[in-house]
Amino acid sequence: MNLKDLQLAELENFIKELGQPKFRAKQVFQWLYKDGGVTEWDQMTNVPKALREKLAEEADLGILKMLQVQKSKLDGTRKYLFELQDGNAIESVFMKYKYGNSICVSSQAGCRMGCKFCASGMDGLVRDLTPGEIIGQILAAEKDTGERINHVVVMGTGEPFDNYDNLAGFLRLLHDPNGLNLSLRNITVSTCGLVPGIQKFAEDFPQVNLAISLHAPNDEIRCRTMPVSKAYPMPELLSACREYAEKTGRRVTFEYTLIKGVNDQKEHAEELVQRLRGMLCHVNLIPLNTVKESGFDTTAKKDAQAFQALLESKGIPATIRRELGDEIDGACGQLRLTNRRK
Ligand code: SAH
Repeated sequence: MNLKDLQLAELENFIKELGQPKFRAKQVFQWLYKDGGVTEWDQMTNVPKALREKLAEEADLGILKMLQVQKSKLDGTRKYLFELQDGNAIESVFMKYKYGNSICVSSQAGCRMGCKFCASGMDGLVRDLTPGEIIGQILAAEKDTGERINHVVVMGTGEPFDNYDNLAGFLRLLHDPNGLNLSLRNITVSTCGLVPGIQKFAEDFPQVNLAISLHAPNDEIRCRTMPVSKAYPMPELLSACREYAEKTGRRVTFEYTLIKGVNDQKEHAEELVQRLRGMLCHVNLIPLNTVKESGFDTTAKKDAQAFQALLESKGIPATIRRELGDEIDGACGQLRLTNRRK
């Protein structure tokens, strides 16, 4: 059992079962998250030795093994390859911004959404990650960098709403004042558009930011790159987004990857404006990061700028994402295991 999969209340029950007083659970819990978390049971210095030994017999600290780290010389980005207990490997990306440190975490090993331009799903889904495995990525990066991470984006490998319960457990752990104590407003979850997940998320986590990978102005184009669009067509998706914005009062971020000749022309921008009109939203334009096998090309810089200008002129806030970590294959959609363990 990975102790990091447990919420504080669950750890309290577990410790009670071991015949120990409840307050010990809080002490143990705090050690799991302090400064990247303890790596040895004996580092829990205020926990009696007998309890430490019992815990060591019954449970695991859930530490991710760092297999590899690539550091960008240009911008301080670090891309990690971590090994899970069962030998599978996952990736995370640490980024430095003016406003603080941010990490992009994976929610699944592999992905079954099959977006055509994305490297992460090329081998399909291997398995869901547990809450402890998702939070473990943050802790391992804090340990490695010696720095606190204050922003988290669930935009690594995997579709978070295809692993909803574990995602929810992870968000609760991340927010726990005895753990990493991260403000929900500093967390963003990105989905390719699983509508039931969006509806549930609006109920469960109205303070967490929501990003939608839209990438097209209509279903005809969207279906060419994102098979999920067949199950949840755009009208349904956008109406779920409108409901989310109304219910939560929060701006929805639409991610829009610009692909040369596919979705980056003036008519596409105009159609997008029609679709998003009146919605509390923001469009984040991402020049496609080329993935060799996909056969898609990135947009020309001037087309990206024209696209942005058109959206802005029609009152839709739009930015072009600054790319970090491109030269270490750590940019959006480039995460892919080159050395799969199993
Ligand atoms: N499954 C979730 C989160 C992971 S993908 C989702 O779809 O939102 C994170 C973001 O990277 C998504 O917006 C995804 O569409 C985008 N992405 C994937 N491949 C890309 C590529 N080659 N270039 C740019 N962005 C890409």
